[in-house]
Amino acid sequence: MLARKCIVCEKNTLTRVIELGFHPPADTFIKKEQLLSPQRFYPLNCLLCQNCGHFQNEYFVSGDERYIESDYSYTSSNSPSAMAHWQEFFDSVSSFTNLRHSDTIIEFGSNDGYLLSLFKKKGAKVTGIDPSPIASEAKKNGIPTIQEFLNSKSIGNSVKRNGKAKIIMGNNVLNHIENLNEAMRAIKSGLRNDGYFIVEVPSLKDTVEKYLFDMIFHEHISTFSVKSINFLLKRHGLNIVKVENIPYHGGSLRVFASFNKSGNWNSIKRQITNEEKAKLFDEETYRKFMTKIIRDKNNILSKVYSLKKKDKKIAAVGAGARSNTLLNFYKLDSTVVDFVTDASIHKIGKFTPGSNIEIKDDRALSTEKIDVVLITAWNIGKYLTEKIKKDNPKMQFIVPGEKELM
Ligand SMILES: [Zn+2]
Repeated sequence: MLARKCIVCEKNTLTRVIELGFHPPADTFIKKEQLLSPQRFYPLNCLLCQNCGHFQNEYFVSGDERYIESDYSYTSSNSPSAMAHWQEFFDSVSSFTNLRHSDTIIEFGSNDGYLLSLFKKKGAKVTGIDPSPIASEAKKNGIPTIQEFLNSKSIGNSVKRNGKAKIIMGNNVLNHIENLNEAMRAIKSGLRNDGYFIVEVPSLKDTVEKYLFDMIFHEHISTFSVKSINFLLKRHGLNIVKVENIPYHGGSLRVFASFNKSGNWNSIKRQITNEEKAKLFDEETYRKFMTKIIRDKNNILSKVYSLKKKDKKIAAVGAGARSNTLLNFYKLDSTVVDFVTDASIHKIGKFTPGSNIEIKDDRALSTEKIDVVLITAWNIGKYLTEKIKKDNPKMQFIVPGEKELM
């Protein structure tokens, strides 16, 4: 479906600023037997709203296709760094909200239930809401989970069971939601007046300044600025109490909001002014961004093809959704990249959507003969390159965008 209006302010004030061609949904890794079936590709363009500053996709792939019909493979506790992040999130949230034994918590997009398990251990009454098949893992692990999309019905079911929530939270999930205003109405109906709405969302400022074009994919419908999320929350009577810039997923905003508490408005206003100064709401910024994306694509491809002409074997590291934006935009497929490695058991043995590259266990980098590693998971690139170099000091690395490895 094509966006006719801004999903935050609902005005028809959108300008197309990014065009990345056609892509399959990035998190739908395919099984071997599906390789001969047609795959669906959709235009991956982004729009900027002139009214509220929101940055969103132009074409929405249905939620059913993204999370239910496909074998959605993302697990939120997929690495030691992810688990450390959730522990830090838990510590920060429990101290900020003065978490008490038996407080009620709802997490939407609760995935495998890892974060909720930390709250449950402290005695909180937790409910997860997640439509994807991964929710069954949470249930197996004893995390009560409603396997549905976030809406007034799923929130209502949680409220019936445990009462209104002290905390409703969603991490890297508000940005996956097409009907944001409907989602906010559902959240409002399930949150106590003195409760907190806490979200982590990809940051537009980081996306632009750190050149995270691979954070753009069909599942990421929105990328938020403080300005646009403030606009959305205000529409539903919520005040931002605090915003933190955190490095997770390359750069995210952790937003704490409440109905009846107000935060340091000067600090929030300052962050919005900084976004304006950084020209986040100017079309020209995205024209430059697009020029860089195209230039880098051509540079990387000339490197890749010159190595391939010398019969070098190339593996990519990291089969995240963002790797698929990169592989599909660069049009790198299994004729060029021999395999991709990943640690997730949900992905190993499957193939990347669109590019059809086999996903192998990370160990394949030491057990198979590989000359060049293309770092697609550059957010953990430093850790990966050091690890790979230990086993194979001669390995060459290609880093898209010549980004400094983090
Ligand atoms: Zn808008």
